[in-house]
Amino acid sequence: MERIYITTPLYYVNAEPHLGHTYTTVVADTLKRYYRALGYDAFLLTGTDEHGDKIAQAAAADGTEPKAYADRVSNLFRSTWDECGIGYDHFIRTTDVYHKDYVQKILQKIYHAGDIYFGEYGGLYCYGCERFYTEKELLGGKCPDHQTAPEYISEKNYFFRMSKYQQQLIEVLQTRPDLVRPERYRTEVLAFLREPLEDLRISRPTSRLQWGIPLPFDSNYVTYVWFDALLNYVSALDHLGGDLLSTLWPTTNHLIAKDILKPHAIYWPTMLMAAGLPLYQHLNVHGYWNMDTGKMSKSLGNVIRPLEMKARFGMDAFRYFLLREMAFGQDAKFSEEALVTRINADLANNLGNFVSRVLAMQQKYFAGVVQPLSTNWAKEDYELRDSVKRADFDAEGFTKDLQFHRALEAIWWALDQANRYVVQTAPFTMIKDSDKKARVGEVLHHLLEVVRTLARVLAPFMPDTAVELKNLLAISDDALKAPWGQGFAAGHKVNPPKVLFPRIETEAKK
Ligand SMILES: [Zn+2]
Repeated sequence: MERIYITTPLYYVNAEPHLGHTYTTVVADTLKRYYRALGYDAFLLTGTDEHGDKIAQAAAADGTEPKAYADRVSNLFRSTWDECGIGYDHFIRTTDVYHKDYVQKILQKIYHAGDIYFGEYGGLYCYGCERFYTEKELLGGKCPDHQTAPEYISEKNYFFRMSKYQQQLIEVLQTRPDLVRPERYRTEVLAFLREPLEDLRISRPTSRLQWGIPLPFDSNYVTYVWFDALLNYVSALDHLGGDLLSTLWPTTNHLIAKDILKPHAIYWPTMLMAAGLPLYQHLNVHGYWNMDTGKMSKSLGNVIRPLEMKARFGMDAFRYFLLREMAFGQDAKFSEEALVTRINADLANNLGNFVSRVLAMQQKYFAGVVQPLSTNWAKEDYELRDSVKRADFDAEGFTKDLQFHRALEAIWWALDQANRYVVQTAPFTMIKDSDKKARVGEVLHHLLEVVRTLARVLAPFMPDTAVELKNLLAISDDALKAPWGQGFAAGHKVNPPKVLFPRIETEAKK
């Protein structure tokens, strides 16, 4: 069986789950469902990143211990994904004992091989960012993120010989052009690699930070957050055992937002090279969600919380919006107005109405019993079937290429064709002529085939809706895969309609 390993970043426990986390996680879940349906053994990993200055400081401000603080936020991530119906296979925490052991094992291995050395470094350091800045990276002498002046610090630390792997990394990016995708991010990484790569400082003295994994070869130091966090993708598989590391790891599809491109596209592959591990298959990078009200922040009170969205609009509607509105790789804009517009237009008026209408006619004219198809199809019957088949094929290709918005566009194009078919054939008029009842039965049969196809193709994107459609049709999973015209046994009865997506009333314009 073919395998695929899909990962989200480990979310840093300095913030509670918001829109950005949710988008990456929903994409990961969509891919997992998509590959499962294709017969892959698909494995989804998510979790939380818990060490470092920021967490130690946040815990102190909270009057609690770092571990207790991390426990609370980590549990919040896990329960949020559970409530959102995210089908993760393993949830890793960087405070898990097996992870700490694995990080130490790899550090020891790289140290032993001579790729970690002790040296001194001085520079301008932003505590908020947990990193050194060069003069030209600062804005008016201040950290561009925190608007505070960094402090000059100098200390002895351990360094990873990242520079040694620069040429090897450039070569990999050239011979494997889809290692980092979409292309714009690969270009960005290659541009960065035109400058000499500096070695990576991978430690903090325990005099300054205790909340981290101790270096196995020097107890006066803990390791730097990235060296700790990035290894999770491998430590989880090592921990779960079996042949996961050898068979699943080479199929890795990382999903990240562009803010962590550099650690994932530069630090991580060079670390893997030094550790003697194969590289991931793809690093898939998406853009930012911008708010129409400015940058999402707690102080502006415009932070989008997934469970609040679920409670107000339904998880599937929220998923649909996220996947339909953002072109993977590019930035997108979030507004409640746009969300409501999509729900009303695409889900309530189009998808929901179409399904209700078909099932209502089936109920009214034939008491729900699916009528037989003759061998003598009309031209529009073939056209409908071919349109739906084409959309199914297109949606599959687009999903594989991470173009979820285009996959959904293709499915909604098929819906438009189905609505056109209803207008063309006008079963509600034909039924008045008793000679045409058999033809009405055929037309509705074809329309039920559209609904049956939707129950299959929508499943990765809108899993609950797909189940609802299947239940309305009263069919099994196996029947979902049957060819057009063979999905319903003779005398099969479908259920009466129900409202799938209530229209959201907005305040009338004054
Ligand atoms: Zn900063």
